[in-house]
Amino acid sequence: HIAEKYIKETPEKLLIISGFSGVGKGTIIHQLLTDHPEKYVVSVSSTTRKPRKGEVDGKSYHFTTRKEFEELVSRDEFLEFSEYAGEYYGTLKKEVYKNYFEGKNVIIEIDSQGARQIRKQQKIQSVFLIPPSFDELLHRLKNSGTETEESIRRRLKRALVEIEHVEEYGVILVNDSVEGTAFVVDALFHPALKHACGC
Ligand code: 5GP
Repeated sequence: HIAEKYIKETPEKLLIISGFSGVGKGTIIHQLLTDHPEKYVVSVSSTTRKPRKGEVDGKSYHFTTRKEFEELVSRDEFLEFSEYAGEYYGTLKKEVYKNYFEGKNVIIEIDSQGARQIRKQQKIQSVFLIPPSFDELLHRLKNSGTETEESIRRRLKRALVEIEHVEEYGVILVNDSVEGTAFVVDALFHPALKHACGC
């Protein structure tokens, strides 16, 4: 498949960003896209989770039913997918493929299970974001205003699973400032660091 071929040939153009729910991955990606629209594009994932307030279908996620998602799985349309807090999430091959023609760097925001699936196919750069403190994470999750108590509980529980895999990541960053973190992530694409991922 062309998406897999693309990844094999240009691994340095891809970056996986993972981290606890609520750590601010979306904000960092938004900052990168705002600062360098000509340089980055983000792969829009598919999910069975319900849209949150303000989320737009096709931009935030491709929102699908479980049945639709399972059909996509059976047609081998995903580069990777996993289950997170009871919902499916996946990266469509075509999301990566469509970006091939734009020649931009592709940011893939996924969990550690998905990252492992991609690494099995190709070694690519990956960043894991951690919050400045557990209290700060709790504060961010509670103040997002989009999560129920139950959802916060599930997400914190899941954070414990995610942290177990942190050593699989090439770079671990404390996200204590949006500008600072976005600056470092952007630096990873500097040609001098092209082989930082060992790819
Ligand atoms: P949220 O529901 O907060 O938007 O996302 C929950 C988790 O799913 C986050 O850790 C996020 O990184 C992960 N996620 C989002 N899209 C994908 C995807 O396409 N594949 C995988 N494996 N995880 C994803």
